[in-house]
Amino acid sequence: MDDTLLTFQTHIGKQKPETIRNRNNPCPFCQPQITEQLIEQDGPILWVENKYPVLKDTCQTVLIETDQCDSELSLYEKAHLHRLFRFGIRRWLDMEQSGEYRSVIYLKNHGPLSGGTIAHPHSQIIGLKHVDCMHQVRPEHFMGIQIDSRQEMEFNVSTHPRSGFVELNASAPAGEEPAWTDLADYVQIAAHFVLNHYHAACTSYNLFFYHIDDRIWAKIIPRFVTSPMYIGYSIAQVADHVMEIAGKVRELYFREGSDWMTRRETADV
Ligand SMILES: [Zn+2]
Repeated sequence: MDDTLLTFQTHIGKQKPETIRNRNNPCPFCQPQITEQLIEQDGPILWVENKYPVLKDTCQTVLIETDQCDSELSLYEKAHLHRLFRFGIRRWLDMEQSGEYRSVIYLKNHGPLSGGTIAHPHSQIIGLKHVDCMHQVRPEHFMGIQIDSRQEMEFNVSTHPRSGFVELNASAPAGEEPAWTDLADYVQIAAHFVLNHYHAACTSYNLFFYHIDDRIWAKIIPRFVTSPMYIGYSIAQVADHVMEIAGKVRELYFREGSDWMTRRETADV
């Protein structure tokens, strides 16, 4: 058995709804019948089985992040953001520890170039029976120009991106649940930066989580059409202005007295 390939089940894929490009299609995550697939609920956060499990030999679940169809992670109130990250990370780590899967993916797609199909804010936790999702993940993919660092946290811009051109990395200790809310703050800043201050044409990003030794890493990648250098040769490219990007994020979000610093200091944790 090839344990590096996932099989996409086309007959199921054909039935999947699409609401990112076709906003008039009914949203499946606003529909009441979602309760049939409910695994667990925490207020407005619903953890459900994926109704269209297109990936063979996996357990595909969806975290419906909010009941606000038009919202976005970069807009969440701090209390909700923190609640979501505590819930999502805990369920992801629990699935890892269950021993039922070779590895467990936790990711989020946002926007038309993210690879997602449903606009309603959600993320996915997917248990892989045979494939190791960390097979091609390297420690250097998380090294970078530091934006912020406090206690055991880290926030940087990749100098060795996985695919390119600009990737933001945030990290927290896996065993310290209170630190996950700081991780949530970093990720929210990254999502907000990518959608508002990075590039005028950027409407899409992916968020990926990785569990490496005793740390959790989150990687936020603004998405455009994927580079042929990467598609054809797996050659990643790094932007030559990552130092400026780090400085810009620092100036926008970490300057004393900025709105974001004030929100952070007054947030309930
Ligand atoms: Zn919706």
